[in-house]
Amino acid sequence: MASLTSAPLHAQRLVPAPVSTKIRLALLATALCDALGGPAEFKPRFSFPFISLMKPNGNFSLAAGVWTDDTSMMLALARSLGTYSASSSPQAEGTRGGFDEVDQLETYLRWYQNGVLSAIGRCFDIGSTTRRALGIYKDALKASRALSPAETRRLSPAAKEKEKEKRRTTAKSALARIARDLGGEGFRGNGSLMRVLPVGLAYSCDSAAAAAYARRSSATTHPTAVCQTACAAWTECIARVVRGADAREGEEQISKLDVLHHFAAYPWPADADALRVALAADVPLPAGVVDPAAMEAHYTAHHPLMRLRAATHTEAPAATPSAGDAKALAAGTFALLPSAAALPSSGYVVHTLAAALYAFLATRTFEAGALLTANMGGDADTVAAVYGGLAGVWYAAQEEEGADGEEGLFWSPRVRAWRDALVRRDLIEEVAEELVEFVERHAASF
Ligand SMILES: [Mg+2]
Repeated sequence: MASLTSAPLHAQRLVPAPVSTKIRLALLATALCDALGGPAEFKPRFSFPFISLMKPNGNFSLAAGVWTDDTSMMLALARSLGTYSASSSPQAEGTRGGFDEVDQLETYLRWYQNGVLSAIGRCFDIGSTTRRALGIYKDALKASRALSPAETRRLSPAAKEKEKEKRRTTAKSALARIARDLGGEGFRGNGSLMRVLPVGLAYSCDSAAAAAYARRSSATTHPTAVCQTACAAWTECIARVVRGADAREGEEQISKLDVLHHFAAYPWPADADALRVALAADVPLPAGVVDPAAMEAHYTAHHPLMRLRAATHTEAPAATPSAGDAKALAAGTFALLPSAAALPSSGYVVHTLAAALYAFLATRTFEAGALLTANMGGDADTVAAVYGGLAGVWYAAQEEEGADGEEGLFWSPRVRAWRDALVRRDLIEEVAEELVEFVERHAASF
């Protein structure tokens, strides 16, 4: 049994890989975790049998391996970033992709109304705030007598442009209404955080742009300050990890301590104070403390998630049991899992972010963190999906099993089994390619 001291955060370094690998596996990891955690959604922690493989999702009568709204909306945002086109002229092909709120709303609406980018061809679940936001846009389109896409296709090019412009104006006024109606205290769910991953992947070269876009992408359905800030902070972290993964040979990779420091020392704005309470160190790191071990010791004493981690790690077996050793695997996972009172996994955006980050910091492999989040219950699929985005970017590599049988940090027999059981992997891969192509097209301009 390995002890915690053998794996301090500052010794756990980012796995290097090309950005394209990181993007592909981050999207896949999100779907894997979402589908794994789906059956545990709505269930109180420790009230259901241990989940270690894809099971049918009784909440929505889904077969094993079906991913939910979290992945669909993440894919919708990724598709919009990868393929948005301001102009319908063919010359624009080489400049495709970019950030556009109206196009994002349109993509979400196609999922909501027509099941585009759903694992089973229809939207079977949608968060209440997202439903309200898309409802506002739908009503506005109806009031403006906007034509359907099929009707629009039959128009002359000039009339088509005019119709497109009308739709844009309608969307902009709907966005203003969403900002007014859904900006209050009652709308602080995790619906924008769960899909924001592609913004960090697409704009990793420019953290400031990534943060600003993350805020704007949240505001299309979740304009509340705490949701916008959660998206910005998470996205900056994703962007930092992607940049680090592409570091030149010989450069030292960032460690999990850098990820913790990002949140612990983040300049949380006053209008998102709940995030500061959950994620900042209660005693700031003293100036001049730069030694990683000293930094980690400070945070272990003064960061709420690190105190939880230290408390649970005293008894947990750290080695991942083999596939046949289900009892030990369950015991090891449950031992790392604080009570729901100490680490809630509700749909409140602050809870979701903290729980996902905890799972990342408390485990050493993609698989271990995925098991931890899926077994949290509550909003398990969303906590798992958010964790999966970060963990996917962190651990992803095209590694195969080593000659000595040693497993990688991302792939393991269990993770391969999850992948093989995942429904509509082709859809995830298709959207991942769109995002990879966007990033490659725009690499020169960053
Ligand atoms: Mg879901």
